[in-house]
Amino acid sequence: MSGAVAVPFLDLAAVHLDLRDDLDVAWKEVLAHGRFIGGPEVAAFEAEFAAHCGVGHGVGVGNGTDALELIMAGLGIGPGDEVIVPGNTFVATVEAVRAVGARPRFVDVRPDTLLADPAAVAAAITRQTAAIVAVHLFGQMADVDALARLASQHGVALIEDAAQAHGARYLGRRPGGWGAGAAFSFYPGKNLGALGDGGAVVSDDAQLIDKIRLLADHGRSPSDRYVHEASGRNSRLDTLQAAALRIKLARLDRMNAARVAVVEQYRRGLPSWCVPVAEDPAAEAVYHLAVVQVPDRPRVTAALDAAGIGWGLHYPVPCHRQPPFAEYADGPLPVVEAAAERILSLPLSPGMTPEQVDLVCEVLHDVPI
Ligand SMILES: *Cc1c(COP(=O)(O)O)cnc(C)c1O
Repeated sequence: MSGAVAVPFLDLAAVHLDLRDDLDVAWKEVLAHGRFIGGPEVAAFEAEFAAHCGVGHGVGVGNGTDALELIMAGLGIGPGDEVIVPGNTFVATVEAVRAVGARPRFVDVRPDTLLADPAAVAAAITRQTAAIVAVHLFGQMADVDALARLASQHGVALIEDAAQAHGARYLGRRPGGWGAGAAFSFYPGKNLGALGDGGAVVSDDAQLIDKIRLLADHGRSPSDRYVHEASGRNSRLDTLQAAALRIKLARLDRMNAARVAVVEQYRRGLPSWCVPVAEDPAAEAVYHLAVVQVPDRPRVTAALDAAGIGWGLHYPVPCHRQPPFAEYADGPLPVVEAAAERILSLPLSPGMTPEQVDLVCEVLHDVPI
């Protein structure tokens, strides 16, 4: 069956199949009113998404990287400041720190969840530390309870990178209210994805959200559109994207439940050498990715390729080993580096069938490990 795709890594077309009628209605409404930037769908989505997160305020922005950068800019973080980030994250988290002129401080992660290790974060706090970024990777929230306590003890900000965790919970609470605010990405493949780029910041801090709204719209004064209070930028959520996101937000919890069911089936069916990332008992993961750790990864991926099964690596080269950020590495991050050799992301789509999950498990059982 070489060449044919038996199980795609992520089937976005299938996700959107039964949304077509609703999307058609939404497009027609936006075309009819013509407010392609700042239309009524944007404010409606901002309110609905903040409510879904259980926080008071939200603002749509251009993408998830901008969302992170705008939180930092809104908090006044800049040159001379250090921002603590886990070594296991997508580079965007680090790019945002560099974009405001601050210095990333990389810390190691927990070996079971591969999320920030609060002890490592505590050890990295200096007088220059301005913020800690809790990255909720793979759909599971980091230990925000411990990180929020650390942040308040040391008088630094806690920022949540929730780009992979729409709908996830920690101790029953979603991202956004644990610290200064949470950044979300609506990149199409995320749990809540737009039909293009998009992002948002949610927070209980109305002033921070106002500041971000101003910075993301050319520094424009809310009271006089011809006065620019700050040298800002252009990072807005398009009305068409907001319209699509409203439709998809209404289905997010159902989609997340389908992801969880796929991962539960993997847990039951995978060979014992294929070890899924652990779930913290305090967390309710929504599984953006189905990450396992395996020995002899080249042998495993070759078997998946031969069977037409998609896979990914998140992330094989840790941020502190990437050329633009290597200069900020304080030393080795043993857990991150060991995991980078072993991690493997298995196919995961909300529409994946039990037969497809079984096929992936069968192919893995046949790998001579
Ligand atoms: C996707 C992602 C981002 C960046 O989002 P974009 O919308 O692509 O800019 C940031 N952090 C993490 C952890 C991500 O997965």
